[in-house]
Amino acid sequence: MNKATLSYAKQQDELDELSHYRNQFHIPKDKNGNELIYLCGNSLGLQPKSTKTYINQELEDWANLGVEGHTEAKNPWLPYHEFLTESMAKVVGAKPIEVVVMNTLTANLHFMMVSFYKPTPKRYKILIEADAFPSDKYAVESQLRHHGYDDKAGVVLWKARDGEELARYEDLETIMEAQGDEIALIMIGGVNYYTGQFFDLKRITNLGHKHGCVVGFDCAHGAGNVNLDLHNSGADFAVWCTYKYMNSGPGSLSGCFVHERHAHDKNLNRFAGWWSHNKETRFNMRGEFDVLPGAEGWQLSNPPILSMAAIKASADLFNEVGMDKLIEKSKKLTGYFEFLINELNNSDIKIITPSNPDERGCQLSIQVKNADRALHNKLTEAGVISDWREPDVIRCAPVPLYNSFEDVFNMVEKLKVLLSD
Ligand SMILES: *Cc1c(COP(=O)(O)O)cnc(C)c1O
Repeated sequence: MNKATLSYAKQQDELDELSHYRNQFHIPKDKNGNELIYLCGNSLGLQPKSTKTYINQELEDWANLGVEGHTEAKNPWLPYHEFLTESMAKVVGAKPIEVVVMNTLTANLHFMMVSFYKPTPKRYKILIEADAFPSDKYAVESQLRHHGYDDKAGVVLWKARDGEELARYEDLETIMEAQGDEIALIMIGGVNYYTGQFFDLKRITNLGHKHGCVVGFDCAHGAGNVNLDLHNSGADFAVWCTYKYMNSGPGSLSGCFVHERHAHDKNLNRFAGWWSHNKETRFNMRGEFDVLPGAEGWQLSNPPILSMAAIKASADLFNEVGMDKLIEKSKKLTGYFEFLINELNNSDIKIITPSNPDERGCQLSIQVKNADRALHNKLTEAGVISDWREPDVIRCAPVPLYNSFEDVFNMVEKLKVLLSD
């Protein structure tokens, strides 16, 4: 059977044992009521139909119980974050003691740097990847300034070579050989938001640790998308958001990982609040600060339950499916997407995401020669929701939980028509 046909795509959907999960999501529609081809789960994941039920439960308990809900709600609010820990730990490949959901992403990045960026005049630099997400870059630069260092001299960039898109490990090794003893912290986006390159977290961590650096990752584009295996990577810390592949709603809370080896280190400097304090004595409301072990010991405030309810709805879905099955489908779906784009045989198009399925998640970043935003706008008009990054890249993420082979087929058909105009 010719793979580049709608009937083949439909057959793949029939064979796909996860295809029914699409029905558990609200798929946005155009004004005529037709489902859009939504390939933007890397920016804002779609809403599970169960989310409303989860949030309504908390609204009702709040209405009926008021403050008593802290202990009497169906899901008591005091320990509510604990209901997320195990599923979240599975998604990122961590132990429960290493994971907590709290704050928002960039805030957590700062809180992690408070504890893990400990510059000295000899070793104060921070290494990031050249195309780091702007918020991460700003966070890192402001930490340098906060400690009184120059934010230009203090940032070391791991760049792709001229004419290339992807960063090479041998170049990172060269940087480390030359400047490793001046670098206090390596902070890399686990999956680069622009190229979709999934970095080898363990390899980077080992290299960093060999040179005496602390190593952390921003896994915003990794959580719920790839096998991060955070515990085994050995990374000191990691942070991620829950509104991209984790489908937990705009601006939803962030996940945070602190490796088990730091779980009981009471001497690590940190910003504290009552929620990082021993649960047994928290409400005595006086006495000495007694920090909780593990990632929970970085919490500050009592958590926003409504946002956590949305995370619980999503985390329960992830738990039910399991990352292994999701990744298995993801590789097929993105592989098919890649195949169809290559079939277009159009020399103006280049996929800059790695072709090795182990070095990427579901996102493909498609560079279109001489294109501008107009192409992206036309795609949107044609019913494809994707993401445009200046100067010339369309990012598309077929998400295994709710996207279909048919989505991917139809997207490439529409792109073909637009490119031939
Ligand atoms: C999405 C994303 C962010 C956004 O940060 P917020 O604090 O959630 O607004 C930051 N860093 C990376 C790498 C991202 O992908």
